[in-house]
Amino acid sequence: MIEVKELFEDIYAYDNGRVRAFLIKGENEDLLIDTLFKEDKLIPMIKKEDRSLKVVLTHSDRDHIGGLDEEVKECYIHLYDAADIKTTKVITIKEGDHISCGRYDFIVIHIPGHTKGSIALFDKEKGILISGDSIQKGGPIYMFGEHRDLDAYIASLKKLKNIKNDIKVILPSHHDCPIDPSYIEKDLEDILALKEGRLRHEKTPNMPCDTYHGTYVDYYYIEN
Ligand SMILES: [Zn+2]
Repeated sequence: MIEVKELFEDIYAYDNGRVRAFLIKGENEDLLIDTLFKEDKLIPMIKKEDRSLKVVLTHSDRDHIGGLDEEVKECYIHLYDAADIKTTKVITIKEGDHISCGRYDFIVIHIPGHTKGSIALFDKEKGILISGDSIQKGGPIYMFGEHRDLDAYIASLKKLKNIKNDIKVILPSHHDCPIDPSYIEKDLEDILALKEGRLRHEKTPNMPCDTYHGTYVDYYYIEN
């Protein structure tokens, strides 16, 4: 069951209970940010015959790219995650690119760490940051696995912290949404504590990693 909710004017969240995608409505075209899992069949649900649909991916984890289907001719993703897209033609995006739809104009911010090609989309005028998995309240945020990079993630949160005064609201892919911009510093505080070995952690049931308990967010991580 997908729950649909209008968060702001022309911004809709499509939430399957585990992950959400965002749909921005423009005049004649719509912009979809992430696609949920394959079995959610999100694209057939939102694609309209008389409107074009542009698809942007915050990163290449399965719960964000699974819904790409043959109806989607091309999708936009950062170069460093592009190789994971096997089903659809890719147009690569990079730091500073603009992605616009209707009343929204997002700039691409490269925030590697969760994946190499993770991006956030930021509408500076509206103060809206779409953060993918990299900022969350509660979590867990996945930081275990070969393609994760703790130091890059910390640098990315510091980069977002530099623009925090321009951010009014954050729209994450998981758990509470919207959340307030203080979670940039809260998640940063917790990941720094993890790196310094200050977080309580225990084995995660049925997963090859530990759960690290931060004050504001949990992380799935394993020490090398
Ligand atoms: Zn995710």
